[in-house]
Amino acid sequence: MLEVDLHAHSHFSLCGNHSVLEMLQRAGDNGMLGLAITDHGPALNGRLNSTFFDRLHDPIPGIRLLKGVEANILDKKANTDFPGKFLPFCDIVLAGIHEQCLSGVAEREYTDLLIKTMNVNPYVDIITHPDNYGQYIDYQKLAAAARDRGVALELNNSKTALKRLPAERTRALITACKETGCRMVVCSDAHAVNEVGDDRAVAPLLQQAEFPEELLITAHAQSVFDFIRERRVSKLQAQR
Ligand SMILES: [Zn+2]
Ligand SMILES: [Zn+2]
Repeated sequence: MLEVDLHAHSHFSLCGNHSVLEMLQRAGDNGMLGLAITDHGPALNGRLNSTFFDRLHDPIPGIRLLKGVEANILDKKANTDFPGKFLPFCDIVLAGIHEQCLSGVAEREYTDLLIKTMNVNPYVDIITHPDNYGQYIDYQKLAAAARDRGVALELNNSKTALKRLPAERTRALITACKETGCRMVVCSDAHAVNEVGDDRAVAPLLQQAEFPEELLITAHAQSVFDFIRERRVSKLQAQR
């Protein structure tokens, strides 16, 4: 079980099954210390709203509500649907390719597109499910670029559990991060309360790869909170 889960969807995503409160309640019941609600950007029908970002603060005692978005990469220029007005309230910003939201880019261009996403959107903290993007991703190149920019690559538990990712690609991603020194986050990508904090599908893959704990941000709650703090400083510097 993760101590802090950085990727979960509520009712504010069309595909989410439960409310923010229900997801948090389960995280608390699981003994977790934090849960990020990262609903989809508007291109994937996410209903991001200012009340959530601006006015809802830790509604369940003892469990830290982290606020975020899973933004969609939209085009060749690496524009995203992240609503910038929420940035001051965001603890964490994820970005990923959901192919129904992306136009005019061939799979062969995905590696460069993901690197460009980090370059032109300094608010992006995590690239979600990089092992979900076709057969042409150059994981070594992507991991080195993420490392240099302080961005983390995600190991997505629910897609692995649902067998939506070819295992060899997930292994290639883990190996590339280990070899290049790129940090990873394990996230549940929960769409229902029963998935909150779950890391059981990917934990054995990390063990088999002997993935170094110091590169795994989600190994401890403290390293997650340190990552959020570190990223906030670099985001503010990038905005100047
Ligand atoms: Zn996603
Ligand atoms: Zn997601």
